[in-house]
Amino acid sequence: MTEKPTAAAAENRPEAKAPTGKRDRLSAVKGMNDILPPESARWEWFEAHVRDVMGVYAYRSIRTPIVEHTALFVKGTGETTDIVEKEMYSFEDRLNGEQLTLRPENTPGVVRAAIEHNLTYDGGKRLFYMGPMFRHERPQRGRYRQFYQLGAEALGFAGPEVDAELMLMVAQLFDRLGLQKVRVELNSLGLLPERLQHRAALIDYFTRHLDALDTDAQRRLQTNPLRILDTKNPAMQELVQGAPQLLSFLGETSLKHFDQVKTLLSACGVAWSINPRLVRGLDYYSHTVFEFITDELGAQGTLCGGGRYDGLFETLGAKPTPAVGWGMGIERVLELIQVQGDALPPLACDAYAVLPDAAALELALPVLQALRQSGVSVQMHAGAEAGMGSMKAQFKKADASGARYALVFGADELTSGSVTIKSLRDGGGAQVARALSDVALWASTLQSAA
Ligand code: ATP
Ligand code: MG
Repeated sequence: MTEKPTAAAAENRPEAKAPTGKRDRLSAVKGMNDILPPESARWEWFEAHVRDVMGVYAYRSIRTPIVEHTALFVKGTGETTDIVEKEMYSFEDRLNGEQLTLRPENTPGVVRAAIEHNLTYDGGKRLFYMGPMFRHERPQRGRYRQFYQLGAEALGFAGPEVDAELMLMVAQLFDRLGLQKVRVELNSLGLLPERLQHRAALIDYFTRHLDALDTDAQRRLQTNPLRILDTKNPAMQELVQGAPQLLSFLGETSLKHFDQVKTLLSACGVAWSINPRLVRGLDYYSHTVFEFITDELGAQGTLCGGGRYDGLFETLGAKPTPAVGWGMGIERVLELIQVQGDALPPLACDAYAVLPDAAALELALPVLQALRQSGVSVQMHAGAEAGMGSMKAQFKKADASGARYALVFGADELTSGSVTIKSLRDGGGAQVARALSDVALWASTLQSAA
């Protein structure tokens, strides 16, 4: 008897590996994390600060799709980058055969949207985004397959003051988050003719040291020699230290742009240092590149990386438009906050509703609704299907919830049309009775005391 071909075999795609755990339970995909409460509160706290800071710098949010045409990243991220060579989640649309990719970064998506909607028709646009990115990397601390980036892009601005503005924004955000000891490294990639001269000098230098190159570097020597400079191989550090530096190939215009960036940062009290090995190996980058780095997260210490990409619009087929931006790894920033000892914001409600008898629900629920409408957060005891549970058990839950008050809707209270409000903090015990119709008044005193 011949075996019936599976759907996968029929469509000539590999059989899916069973995505199951030991006991046949489904688990999250490797390298992709759930963000659960209470940790999710830290994310929201971070996002609230981001929106604030973006607002005071007049950056507006943009939301682009998570799935884009693969060609966008091949062109816009670059064929010779690690991302495109080995990290993308790409697939073919089953229905129309289009080649699609889960975005590994969002600059290409933002620029595509800007071109498609002609966003810069009336001048520059300052934009930011937050959201998931996908890269097939080896998962480790600070490196995941689904991770979140915050990014800012200033489109249509050529001047060095916008490069500086973007970095000042990061510095201010980090300051607000209470981050310490994050350093700023800068470099300039100058202009294309300068880089071509440097490239020739680099190829010459590395060719003279061919046997000291690892296989990756040997491959890059022809495709993308600049990228050899950011090798992580310890055995190649000495060689790379001695390589010709791009900075010494820069002409007057490039030096002036770079000097202004440095001067403006210093004028605003942001310390920086030059890292001549900070590079981006693609033609559409120019002038400023920068990173915000910590030494407290091991190998994954780059929190934020950015730079000017004046050639990208043209690379994507649009008219030349100067642009500069950065991307920040949100997991890394949140981890640094944790490493530096910042406690999670408390997640407690204002009040916990103790409901000894399900018969109380009809009177109690409208009161809880009124409280919530006036901004008081209330967690309701649930369990009507099992007779609600004893008062003692409910008070235990109320305590554990961290709420400031218990609202007790007992039988006595209900016959007298009132609720008992019992303090759960400061040793607890203090309690008052309030008419049900009067609870909103109590709520207003609560708000002003908070
Ligand atoms: P790295 O050298 O660490 O791989 P990268 O050059 O690939 O970084 P960018 O493409 O510049 O990183 O992305 C901007 C930021 O996004 C990084 O500085 C980092 O904070 C974060 N990031 C990049 N890849 C990951 C990942 N796989 N998991 C978590 N965060 C990441
Ligand atoms: Mg990477």
